[in-house]
Amino acid sequence: MKIALLARNPKLYSHKRLVQAAEERGHEMHIIDTLKVVINLAAHKPDMKYLGQNLVGFDAVIPRIGASITFYGTAVLRQFEVMGVYPLNESVAISRSRDKLRSLQLLARKGIGLPITAFAHTTTKPGEIIEMVGGAPVVIKLLEGTQGIGVVLGETEAAAESMIQAFGGLKANILVQEFIKEAGGTDIRCLVIGDKVVASMKRTGKEGDFRSNLHQGGSASMIKITPEERSTAVRAAKIMGLGVAGVDMLRANHGPVVMEVNSSPGLEGVEKASGIDVAGKIIEYIEKNAKPNKTKTRGKG
Ligand code: ADP
Repeated sequence: MKIALLARNPKLYSHKRLVQAAEERGHEMHIIDTLKVVINLAAHKPDMKYLGQNLVGFDAVIPRIGASITFYGTAVLRQFEVMGVYPLNESVAISRSRDKLRSLQLLARKGIGLPITAFAHTTTKPGEIIEMVGGAPVVIKLLEGTQGIGVVLGETEAAAESMIQAFGGLKANILVQEFIKEAGGTDIRCLVIGDKVVASMKRTGKEGDFRSNLHQGGSASMIKITPEERSTAVRAAKIMGLGVAGVDMLRANHGPVVMEVNSSPGLEGVEKASGIDVAGKIIEYIEKNAKPNKTKTRGKG
């Protein structure tokens, strides 16, 4: 197969592994720097150019679109879909998963366990929001944050109120969430491919940090997940419409709660912690599923 890898940085571990896994299986992988693609919207002959060449003849496209380029990245992916190329994750599903509020609303609607969450734009009554999620301590998150940046813990009522006011002063959209203390600064990342969790890891924050993000100095290790965690992760990915997803969960007293569903999960932490060849499994999934015009939306979404 001829596969396009939409990625800005070919040197990232995840991207190198995907190229290696594809080539080992005899496929031709082209790394395409998303922002350098030029889209031609012509009605009868949709087309794209990359460094002067027409992007034609691809069987599949693997989107690895960073959060900062979601807008242009999903437009390029949509154009591949219009041209009938099979996407590992569809553009509509990626856009959906990038909107934290929309994602949580969709997951809640389908009965997925979530931390109790309230959403506010600006408020003159922060106490009311804190009350709504059961009182301090609460976690406050910037809707536009990623990799743990913009996630803070309001340990007391007074601290939480002033944080909410500070974000309000900046006109930022925030989520206020029940603090899952019993998770002990550890979260679980499940790598879902199709209808299976193929690998998982637990991430633990550095000493004194309740955030377990690897980008914030957290460390990854192996974990055995429960059948309930497994089915929650698979359902969450399916609800978002993602073929491949990283589902982040916390172990709450009343069962797993989902924090986020990531459409471009990093492979380094999870492959090293689990010892599983996740990149190989992604390529195998493409081999099984890639057929021309096999997207639900063909770029219509
Ligand atoms: P980001 O998308 O920026 O990574 P997350 O929502 O995943 O933000 O939060 C970052 C980290 O903070 C999580 O990995 C988790 O360890 C911790 N965390 C987030 N929400 C909660 C919560 N409600 N209770 C306890 N810990 C949380």
